[in-house]
Amino acid sequence: MMDADWLFNSIRDQSGDTEFYLPLPAGYKPGTTKFVVVFGTVMSGLGKGIFSSSLAKCVQDRGLRVAPIKLEGYLNIDSGTLNPFRHGEVFVLDDGTECDMDLGTYERALDQDLSRLNFATSGQIYRRVLERERTGAYLGRDVQMIPHVTGEVKNRLRELAVATQADVVFVEIGGTVGDVENAHYIEAVRQLAFEEGQRSVCFVALTYVLEPPILGEQKSKAAQLGIRRLLECGVQPHIIACRAHGPVTRKVREKIALFSNVPPERVFSMHDCESVYLIPELLRGAGYDKAVMEWLELQPRATEEEERAAREAWTQYLVRLRNATREVTIGITGKYTAVRDAYASILKALEHAGVYLGCKVQTRWVDTSELTDETAAAAVQDLHGIIVPGAFGTRGAEGKIACLKHARRSGLPCLGICYGFQMAVIEFARNVCGMEDANSTEIENECRYPVINLLPEQKEIEGLGGTMRLGGHDIVVKPGTLAACMFGSRARLRFRHRYEVDPRYIPQLEAGGMVFSGKSPRAEIMNVLELRPDLHPYYVGTQAHPELTSRPLSPQPFFVGLVHAALRRACPDYAEPLVYPHEAADPSDEERPAPQPRSHRVEQV
Ligand code: GLN
Repeated sequence: MMDADWLFNSIRDQSGDTEFYLPLPAGYKPGTTKFVVVFGTVMSGLGKGIFSSSLAKCVQDRGLRVAPIKLEGYLNIDSGTLNPFRHGEVFVLDDGTECDMDLGTYERALDQDLSRLNFATSGQIYRRVLERERTGAYLGRDVQMIPHVTGEVKNRLRELAVATQADVVFVEIGGTVGDVENAHYIEAVRQLAFEEGQRSVCFVALTYVLEPPILGEQKSKAAQLGIRRLLECGVQPHIIACRAHGPVTRKVREKIALFSNVPPERVFSMHDCESVYLIPELLRGAGYDKAVMEWLELQPRATEEEERAAREAWTQYLVRLRNATREVTIGITGKYTAVRDAYASILKALEHAGVYLGCKVQTRWVDTSELTDETAAAAVQDLHGIIVPGAFGTRGAEGKIACLKHARRSGLPCLGICYGFQMAVIEFARNVCGMEDANSTEIENECRYPVINLLPEQKEIEGLGGTMRLGGHDIVVKPGTLAACMFGSRARLRFRHRYEVDPRYIPQLEAGGMVFSGKSPRAEIMNVLELRPDLHPYYVGTQAHPELTSRPLSPQPFFVGLVHAALRRACPDYAEPLVYPHEAADPSDEERPAPQPRSHRVEQV
């Protein structure tokens, strides 16, 4: 291995007369940040994101500052134009980045807000290279995959290191070793290890050990071949994680060690376990974090006491999840409802709220494409609450409106999210405020009462990518409302929409009894709606996507409220008062009103 200082000095010669290409972000000091790179071999779908985030969490629990980055192979600039029913939900970060759902896994595991720096696609990398080429930044050279594209990849990793001042950057390379579309990432991290010098980069290969039922024993050949493929790329792994159904035997681990030059004590089993929350403990128990820290010559910053406290909080979460005695069933309405990944964060947010309240939350999919006023009641009977989630287009809209009407009139707890919020406004306008043809212009452009209309800033936009109202926005909360119990006087939520409540109809909707309890501080954008507590036990909608900011140890209040109301419906003896996480954390907020009793009287609005 070459000496890092020498290398950096020699290749920083930007006169053009060098084969190296090393754009370094301002303030980057080689050697200050360490890198852990996780590769998938053999096949996809091994839970690389969960593995990387759990490993990062173990290192974070030791008091080190970690920053994850996902490198996606596809050419899209971001995930905004991807179909969630093919690729899983589009996750939105506070800065408005539309990204892969794995970023949600990282945010939840590390309890950390991420930004566009934590997500790169090949599309972004190539775009930057091509833009530089047009400005003549390559000084007359032919622009090549190596060193220019790979140089840009390394640049992204180092930019993240500088911006976050991380001790360790965790790099997750998408796809599987051998994919053409990820080859430049693998080549880039190979170069990174060379440039950064000894013990600066730790390569972790996630592989798979087969156990065909007809043989009844574990076979390591596929894993060997997968790792051989990585070696062919010039990457010598330092740690191997063997995914498998059951614990990987010593014999198999030794065989993999023999074929990969990795000592057997760094070839670990990572077998299936009951809950993803067990994985950090499983990794710790096996010694993964110790191996990473030793390889990178890192010392913990947290005392043993602090580390134990961090682990304990997580373990307690799992204990509460397992020991929950009560149970509620929440229906989720939507199209193609069989695809769980499309609603991943909603499912997580329900789980977080359930754990907070000591109850298991079961979910049931309600397909609304054929539902009418007559059939909606039957479709949601036995449910203790419903969520009408975000959506685009027209399919299933009338069925959702029918469900909302039934929920409003029958006292069924209900949370409308984004599109669901918009459908709740339409339902209320039609059936309470007498605007019979009310609709959204997304559904019916020429309708008589366009109560949901394009945001003014959307009217001039052409094209689809990254053009919505995106990311985190502050909300001003109306005193004396349910939202004020949940948040106090202000909240911050994440958004992804083009349409909003048309301000012309707000007076009529409010006169009908709809309370807009959260608004944008600058524009007339309605962000939260609710019905008064004497009219409905829990009828709430939000233009935002509250599921994106729910975390295991800080559940999102809209979901807590929904699950609490569902519990009261499911268990007649349930009388626990509801204390929102915000109230528990900050009982001194003076703008928060005293909790109001929420009656179960059925609608009469
Ligand atoms: N289609 C609606 C809009 O664009 C809702 C979007 C959503 O639910 N994410 O405003």
